[in-house]
Amino acid sequence: MNDSAAQVLQFVQENDVKFIRLAFCDITGAQKNIAIMAQELPRAFEQGISFDSPNVKGLEGAGHTDLFLVPDCSTISILPWRPAHERVMRMFCDICYPDGSPFEAASRSVLRQAVQRAASQGFICRIGTECEFYLFSTDEQGRPTDVPFDRGSYADISPLDKGENIRREICLALEDMGLMPESSHHEQGPGQNEVDFRYADALTAADNLVTFQSVVRAIAEQNGLYASFLPKPLPGQAGNGLHLHISLARGGKNLFENRPRHSESAESFIQGILDRIGEITVFLNPLTNSYRRFGSFEAPRFVTWSHQNRSQLIRIPASSGEANRMELRSPDPTCNPYLAFALLLHAGLDGIEQKRGLMPSCDCDPAETDALLLPQNLGQALERAQNSEFVARWLPEGVRESYFALKENEWRGFRQSEDTFAWEKKNFFDRV
Ligand code: GLU
Ligand code: MG
Repeated sequence: MNDSAAQVLQFVQENDVKFIRLAFCDITGAQKNIAIMAQELPRAFEQGISFDSPNVKGLEGAGHTDLFLVPDCSTISILPWRPAHERVMRMFCDICYPDGSPFEAASRSVLRQAVQRAASQGFICRIGTECEFYLFSTDEQGRPTDVPFDRGSYADISPLDKGENIRREICLALEDMGLMPESSHHEQGPGQNEVDFRYADALTAADNLVTFQSVVRAIAEQNGLYASFLPKPLPGQAGNGLHLHISLARGGKNLFENRPRHSESAESFIQGILDRIGEITVFLNPLTNSYRRFGSFEAPRFVTWSHQNRSQLIRIPASSGEANRMELRSPDPTCNPYLAFALLLHAGLDGIEQKRGLMPSCDCDPAETDALLLPQNLGQALERAQNSEFVARWLPEGVRESYFALKENEWRGFRQSEDTFAWEKKNFFDRV
């Protein structure tokens, strides 16, 4: 057992931890876990814990081979909403074959590989996520309704904003879990909120986003509410975006620093993402409902970038120094962050390798230019990804097969339904 494992065992003993949640995600990014008792943790470190992998979406490809959960020592967090005595600790896991080698189609290992590709060229990618969500009231049985918790709008205060106590509890829980919350506010839609926390390296940022969503869900539930991350839960109201603030550093220097201008590498990285965005949209905007969000309430519709305009696909904010970055505004909170971040990283690195020059910014209404459109529905996005040699190069076959089959099925269900919004609500409203 290595030093970090020994330190985790010591932490468990000294902090009255009784249960360890071994956490992982299925191919949609939904968090799953198996709880083990604390005394089983040494075995988890040494051999991994086997689980019923064929029952998890995206892991079917292992066939009859047993898969194991191997906890990552750098990801310990106490779950603050569980009892303060005989406590519950969560650890993210890698999914491995019996010999300890990583199962290639597990999304966390797909992102690890992208991070390693960047590292082999001396790059560290950091990502900050801004994840919006709605709070809905529940009925007498505790089931979610479509009645928003309040009628507030952007940056409102109490009594219009009824979410202040929930956001406070979320911030405190994030702080307990080491996520460093930075700011929070009521968003544009009724019952819509945002809580932002500090950026991190790409793998930690994906883990943190999964943690964030679980915190929001747990705290909403404890308050008799339902938190929805559906991209467009209320027709005619603002959608839920997942804005990604991405930067790249080499040798301790942020390549997105913009004095006097950003580096050529940063520009090529951005262009690399612009080049591939249509091919990877199905991974950034996975649901039929995702496409209702584009084109209104500051969600993008065209493949353009700008320094100012918040409705465009990429914004390069005018701040300076450590915080310099690009902001990608198309993704939504129902994406699998491990796959999404991996593809974005590969697209950007390809852009650098190919020395792509950045296209001109769009400083007017993109609808009045000949700018390309983002895919306009799940079917289009799926087709672009299925025909993409870029996606085929960077995503293992097992991921592609399973993801595309899932999306084909959803696209068929959507097209066959009479009331498409009712179909989305029935299948996704109380799940994402
Ligand atoms: N809710 C908007 C979206 O769907 C974004 C609003 C904002 O800029 O925070 O992306
Ligand atoms: Mg926002």
